[in-house]
Order: sequence, then structure tokens, then C-alpha cells
Amino acid sequence: MKTRRRPYSDQRPTDLGGGVWSVPVPIPGNPLGYTLVYAVESPGGIVLIDAGWNHEDAWTALRDGLATVGVNVSDLRGVVVTHYHPDHAGLAGRVREESGGWIAMHQADADLVRLYRELAGDDGRHLQVEMMRKAGAGADAEAMVTADRPIPPAQPDVELQDHDLIDLPGRPLRAIWTPGHTPGHLCLHLEDTDRMFTGDHVLPGITPHIGIYPYDRSDTDPLTDYLASLDRLSVYTTTEALPAHEWTFPDVATRAAEIHQHHEQKLITLEALLTPTPHTIWQIAEKMTWNRPWPDLTPIQRGLAAGEAAAHLRTLESRGKAHRHPNAHFSTTP
Ligand SMILES: [Zn+2]
Repeated sequence: MKTRRRPYSDQRPTDLGGGVWSVPVPIPGNPLGYTLVYAVESPGGIVLIDAGWNHEDAWTALRDGLATVGVNVSDLRGVVVTHYHPDHAGLAGRVREESGGWIAMHQADADLVRLYRELAGDDGRHLQVEMMRKAGAGADAEAMVTADRPIPPAQPDVELQDHDLIDLPGRPLRAIWTPGHTPGHLCLHLEDTDRMFTGDHVLPGITPHIGIYPYDRSDTDPLTDYLASLDRLSVYTTTEALPAHEWTFPDVATRAAEIHQHHEQKLITLEALLTPTPHTIWQIAEKMTWNRPWPDLTPIQRGLAAGEAAAHLRTLESRGKAHRHPNAHFSTTP
């Protein structure tokens, strides 16, 4: 696919009109490059959508970027976080400290933040190794889990539900619950100008990671949720989509349908890979097509690929097209 992706060094804070600005905030050491943080103005003050990675360089970029468009961090009314991931929620705590404002996120992600804060110690690490071993990761398990993990984000002050209005007096900014990438992912619809902040749910050039953790869970089906969340956007005739990475784009419904199709195709390919003999999620992931050959993936990338394989297997299972065996093995249906 033709890419319009440009490095962080080419990005600038931008006045998008209608009281909306975007500020690129770097994600150190990550090929995605940057998070687009949006500032939305209202008669009652300014609210941020996402905050960026918790790192000193990112903080400087956020503070200085906001200053170039005339916004002072200490004046912010609050931050609404599209989802709890560190490149979105990481700096929300620091913005709250500087401004005295609120942090808002969907309740399902707020629950996960609570969990990760509890698991931040060695117990959490132990559970992760266990999960990867069970899925057949072998030596990759230790390597992935010993890698540095980001500090969990700050606990929000406001826990949002689908359709809630954000505290932005005088402007209707509505939470649209779009679970999949995370259980509490939100898109935010600025109704007065019909613009949609899509977070990681719909991105113009790439598709977000959809995984299951722990891999062997059968009480959740994030890919089915994600596909439904994509369909949810088909009713919006949004004039402009403002994603958290890459670049803004006009037609959110068309792009959402395209991503839905991409996953349906992946499900068909995966179904064809299954055999009557059960295999571990790890063995199946190894046979799937990724953006690089399996041996070239780092342990962390393999862990994510296995999570993605697990999510697709779970959806095939829900549709009666894959059969689950003990110890997270899958086969064709008998
Ligand atoms: Zn992201």
C-alpha cells in the first residue's frame, strides 16, 4: 500500500480549524513515530484527546507544541483518553498534575488500569511467562517478559460509558464505545462540526493490533467485538477523521469497511491453515503471514503475533469453524 507516513521530525503542531489543534508527540524507539494529541477548545476551556507516551522528550514536545498553538498545559480542563495504552494515556497523569484537570476514559479500560497497577510487580511478570509457555512459546516466553514494560497509566477521575458527553461546556463531544483494540476503546464524535477522533480504532494506512491476553481465554472475543465496532462507524458521514497516528483522512465509514474486509480475509486464510491434528496457538501463528518472516520477528513481536492469532482463532471458534482442545490447541472442527 502507498504510504503517506512521514517521520516524527517532519511533523508540526497544526491548527485544524474550528477550535481543534493537533500536536505530534514522539514515541521514543517505536516505528509508529508519534501520537497525534488533539486539543479541542470550548467556551469552558480546552480538553485534550490523548496525551502521549510517558517520557521526558514526549512531555517537552507536548508542552512546547501546545504553547506554539497558544495553549498552556496549566490551563487545560482535562484529558479524555481513547484507550489505556501507554502511547495514549502515558502522559495523562502528568497533565493532571500540571493542570489540576480531570482524566476520563471508558470504564472497561479504567478496570484494566486498576488491574495493571496491581500487577505491576513480579507477580504480573510470572503470570505472563506462564501464559506464553502454555501457548507453546518455549524460550521466547522468558525473553519477552524480561523486556522493559511501561509504567501503568494514571487511574482516571471519570469513567465513561457509551454515548456519554465529555465535560466540554458548550460543545458536544460524545463518547462512542468501540471495543476491540482494547475493551474500552473510545472514538469521540465532535457533533457540531461532524468530526470523529478515531484513536487507534480506525487508522488510514495500518490496522490496529487485535489480540487476546492470556491467549487461552474463551470468555472474550475481541475480534468479533472489533468487527462490530467497525460496523458501528458505517452510519457516520463524518467530514473528517482524526486518528491518533499517521494522518487525518476524510471518510471514516469507507476505511472501517476496508479494515473489516482485511480481517475477514485473514480469517479465511487462517481457517485453511488448520489441520485435523491440534496445534498450539504458537505453532499456528508461525504458519500465518506477518509483515516479516517469523524468524525475523523479535520475541515481543512474536508474542503480539500469537495474541493476534489467538484472537482470530477465537473468532473462528465462535463461528463454529475451529475446534478448541485442552491446553490451548486448535484444530479443524470434527
Ligand atoms: Zn496507539
